[in-house]
Amino acid sequence: MKREKEIYKVTLWGSTVNAVLVVMKLLAGLLGNSAAMLADAVHSVSDFATDMVVLAFVRISHKPKDKTHDYGHGKYETLATALIGLALFAVAVGVLVGGAKKIAFWASGGVLVQPGKLALWAALISIALKEWIFQYTKRKAEQLDSQAMKANAWHHRSDALSSVGAAVGIGGAIFCGERWAVLDPIASVVVGAIIIKVAVDLLKNGVGELMEQSLPEEVENEILDIVASIPDVVEPHDLCTRRIGKRFAIEMHILMDGDRPLREVHATASEIERLLKARYGADTHVAVHVEPIGEE
Ligand SMILES: [Zn+2]
Ligand SMILES: [Zn+2]
Repeated sequence: MKREKEIYKVTLWGSTVNAVLVVMKLLAGLLGNSAAMLADAVHSVSDFATDMVVLAFVRISHKPKDKTHDYGHGKYETLATALIGLALFAVAVGVLVGGAKKIAFWASGGVLVQPGKLALWAALISIALKEWIFQYTKRKAEQLDSQAMKANAWHHRSDALSSVGAAVGIGGAIFCGERWAVLDPIASVVVGAIIIKVAVDLLKNGVGELMEQSLPEEVENEILDIVASIPDVVEPHDLCTRRIGKRFAIEMHILMDGDRPLREVHATASEIERLLKARYGADTHVAVHVEPIGEE
């Protein structure tokens, strides 16, 4: 319980930083007249939305199964992730089109307004904050040995890099003279492309899970190895796997000697369940169908 609380605390800190960045970047982007800073703000909005899914939906998706949801509520989280991916994709396209329009205007001889120093300060503060939260999250992830937190830490680092891109564009647009004001929308296009990548990853994972995509081949092979290691089990086959939120669902057929008493067959099937739950978590969904050898 203490570990879970600690993870929750670190996640909360990350989302607090993101919330602060959303407000700061939106203000700096609007007041500082910077497309790059607004694009970076959109990125922070998406980060904050993802945090909210982690903090809120994880609770909902851990709600135990009930009468009308025999497989639990794990897919609430999946659906939310896919929706965020979709919304993010739409916003990112908006950022790209906005940046491209400004660049086209500049290319046809138009004069762009240079961004203000405020936008540059916001980018620099964002880099510093994100680097700090990266270091903090990474240290905690190592202490608590959490893969999810480690991934989250590296996301913070990539956010810092996104702000570096914005800072370079804004700085160039300010210090290289009016003609180079185009560097700001160019940076917004770069940041927009980063957001599209994030959106596509979220969508791919979310939709894949909603479409009952199987677990990766390495995991399926590991499952078969675990089952085959039990003495009386012959030829596990028709393996069906998928994800339900954080849980795995595993179904399979096995062959056993048809003359064995039901009590022993049941003990073996229970052993499969026990081993798979020990490996993939106590809430893993396991269903085993037993057939007598030679009667398939
Ligand atoms: Zn991000
Ligand atoms: Zn079969």
